[in-house]
Amino acid sequence: MAHNFLSRLTGSFAMPAAENPTVAMVEAAYRHHGLDIRYINCEVPPERLGDAVKGARAMGWIGFNCSIPHKVAVIKHLDGLGESAAVMGAVNCAVRRGDQFIGENTDGKGFLQSLRTLTDPRDKMVVMFGAGGAARAIGVELAFAGAKRIIIVNRSAERGQALVDLLNSKTTARAELVTGTTSYRVPKDAQILVNATSIGLYPDVEGRINLDVASLHPGLIVADVITNPPRSPLIRDAEARGCRTLDGLGMVVNQGVIGIKYWTGIDVDAGVMRRTLEDLFA
Ligand code: NDP
Repeated sequence: MAHNFLSRLTGSFAMPAAENPTVAMVEAAYRHHGLDIRYINCEVPPERLGDAVKGARAMGWIGFNCSIPHKVAVIKHLDGLGESAAVMGAVNCAVRRGDQFIGENTDGKGFLQSLRTLTDPRDKMVVMFGAGGAARAIGVELAFAGAKRIIIVNRSAERGQALVDLLNSKTTARAELVTGTTSYRVPKDAQILVNATSIGLYPDVEGRINLDVASLHPGLIVADVITNPPRSPLIRDAEARGCRTLDGLGMVVNQGVIGIKYWTGIDVDAGVMRRTLEDLFA
């Protein structure tokens, strides 16, 4: 491996910083491709976020990820935003371009890249549970990719309506809200179903979204954002109903692939990254 005086640095500004599987996943890709870059996890309290970005500039970092609670707050410390990050109002990946840090959002792009292994969302009808940060990122990218109709199913009407209004005002997709349902029946003409809520995430591993499982029709593609466990209750229910499925690892791996491409220009091997996560979550 070529050795500079100092390896190029990337990392995650997180809170708390413990047990971040992204570190293992990204470093596995760096090692596999012989890249002299490190990815380090930094615990950054909200009131020190500006200092952390200044530190990254001072040390010549080529980029960094941000997780909750920094995804919105980081924007004022950056020099500009990519198109979808600007529409979402959230950044999970900062990229150094020249002397500037530009904010991108790779969550939705990672989801899209994973989805495209099974289908192109153009002109499709999508049902998406959730209206939080992950749902905003996925909804915006699906709409930018040409999804025709997006039905948002969410517990709280307020957050759900905010996402519907965002999609209807900033994209060409037609979005509508369903709320207060106890057993949602997926319309027969829906082609893609997404769980973008945190339901099913460890330790609530048997948590199920408010869905009438009998309405999952073969031909429907079912995607879950839950990474731990990858075989979430929704994925298992959908497989049992004959649907094709995408687990949350596909999204997290592809957002990592896209982030490394932004930082280095290199297309890394997604398989190496996925196997690292599978070993962690086995
Ligand atoms: P948010 O807190 O922003 O949003 C959570 C969403 O889940 C909201 O829509 C919320 O509804 C809903 N929700 C949570 N609990 C319940 C419940 N008991 N009943 C009904 N609805 C519920 O979280 P994020 O959007 O940031 O993250 C959501 C999930 O996505 C997390 O599990 C996270 O780990 C995962 N994720 C996965 C990624 C990947 O790469 N695979 C990337 C990013 C996130 P309400 O609005 O009513 O509160």
